[in-house]
Amino acid sequence: MSKIIPAIRVKNFSFYYHTQKILEDVSIDIPQNKILAIIGPSGCGKSTFLKSLNRMSELETEIKIEGQVEFFGQNIYERRINLNRLRRQVSTIYPTPNLFPMSIYDNVAYGVKLIGWRPKTELDEVVELALKAADMWEEVKNRLYKPALELSCGQQQRLCIARALAVKPQVLLMDELFVGLDPITSGKIEELIQCLRSELTIVFVSHNMQQVYRLSDFTALFHYNENHVGQLLEVASTTKVFARNLDSRIHEGNIPGLQKILNSR
Ligand code: ADP
Ligand code: MG
Repeated sequence: MSKIIPAIRVKNFSFYYHTQKILEDVSIDIPQNKILAIIGPSGCGKSTFLKSLNRMSELETEIKIEGQVEFFGQNIYERRINLNRLRRQVSTIYPTPNLFPMSIYDNVAYGVKLIGWRPKTELDEVVELALKAADMWEEVKNRLYKPALELSCGQQQRLCIARALAVKPQVLLMDELFVGLDPITSGKIEELIQCLRSELTIVFVSHNMQQVYRLSDFTALFHYNENHVGQLLEVASTTKVFARNLDSRIHEGNIPGLQKILNSR
């Protein structure tokens, strides 16, 4: 992994909610335009780790960190950092669609408008491109000014991705995005991720090992130690992680599917 320029570099990173240590000494390079999957048992800090990459965790409660997280060489925990810009560049897609009660068009244009005024023709273009990138343009081009909340749940989820893409993020973070989605929508989002893979860095958390295997270039395996502090056990190419026999290190009940895949290889 070290030969590729990392989009995100995490160095000796420890994380605390108040005084409780949640993650300990995590170091990982996340290469640009690659897909990293994060797996590990419940409660080992996967979501916390993801939220640390664009400083969303500190919106919840008081936090403390040690070490560094760099986004293209810049330490994101520096005091001078522009958090709005950071969160546009490293953008979170939530598992439950969180669209605004506005039209489809206004949802997609929302983040772009926040950055600054643009003529309508330019906004139209941005909206069209984002919807095309999210593979939704044909579905919604004749109803752009209809309420976004009238879309199906699966369409809303893809519209959230279009909204994120409109502001041209460099990194997308997805935490258990597929949980609760029907297989058709899941399949469409997987296809979308496949289309975006050459242009974006994607980090996703999933318990679905088949999906991790299909989608990710690298897999980071977290666990928690005897003090219940999350640690990065290993990171390697997904094929390598899956090829190894991990059964002694993973609590099978927490990662359904991995054992099956490992046994079938
Ligand atoms: P995972 O996503 O791997 O299931 P989380 O990152 O959600 O794990 O949680 C890791 C630990 O951090 C858990 O012990 C959880 O209770 C704790 N935790 C998560 N969010 C908060 C919070 N906002 N405040 C305090 N503790 C939290
Ligand atoms: Mg989680």
